[in-house]
Amino acid sequence: LNYQSARFLISAPTLASCPTDSGAEVAFAGRSNAGKSSAINTLTRQKALARTSKTPGRTQLINFFSLGDDTSRRLVDLPGYGFAKVPEKVKLEWQRHLSDYLQRRASLRGLVVVMDVRHPLSEFDQTLLGWADDKHMPVHILLTKADKLKQGAAKAALQQVKNRLREWEDLVSLQLFSSLKGQGVEEAHQRLDGWLLD
Ligand code: GDP
Repeated sequence: LNYQSARFLISAPTLASCPTDSGAEVAFAGRSNAGKSSAINTLTRQKALARTSKTPGRTQLINFFSLGDDTSRRLVDLPGYGFAKVPEKVKLEWQRHLSDYLQRRASLRGLVVVMDVRHPLSEFDQTLLGWADDKHMPVHILLTKADKLKQGAAKAALQQVKNRLREWEDLVSLQLFSSLKGQGVEEAHQRLDGWLLD
């Protein structure tokens, strides 16, 4: 698939305002600051397709991108989670939106969870994996910012996360990634192709 042809489609504040639930889409989730926007931009070779929210606390949107003009294949940028300063009530609301989306979206083929390789498997990362597991939804984990570690340490981190996820190995795949270096783009594209092209 031509990921470079990705373009902004629509922002949706709730599940009800998402585009028609047909075709196939892949959603990206991650703790805020993990590197999710950078990963989406790197995978689509665009500078600012996905933007980081600099204003934690405001209502966050689900952003949809189509691959080319054909809106039947989409990438979805889910709201980042884990802002420390967000009031509990707002956090719960975001979580409800995410869980609604994951539970009900029929065109969702797979979930990419972006984690900082130095801080993988946050509490909410694990909650998300649990939800995906409940739905038998395949997950691909990008352990990003791999450039921040020496090669050996990055490989060790990958292996550690693999070991911790062993019980989910049927559903979960993972790889090292770096937006800064463009590392892991090919591997990620292959996984997305597998979901979007079947
Ligand atoms: P988001 O909140 O998950 O969308 O995170 P961003 O993509 O905005 O990234 C958060 C910060 O991490 C920014 O300062 C990025 O420049 C930096 N960053 C993201 N990806 C990488 C990476 O692969 N390597 C390095 N060194 N920094 C990265």
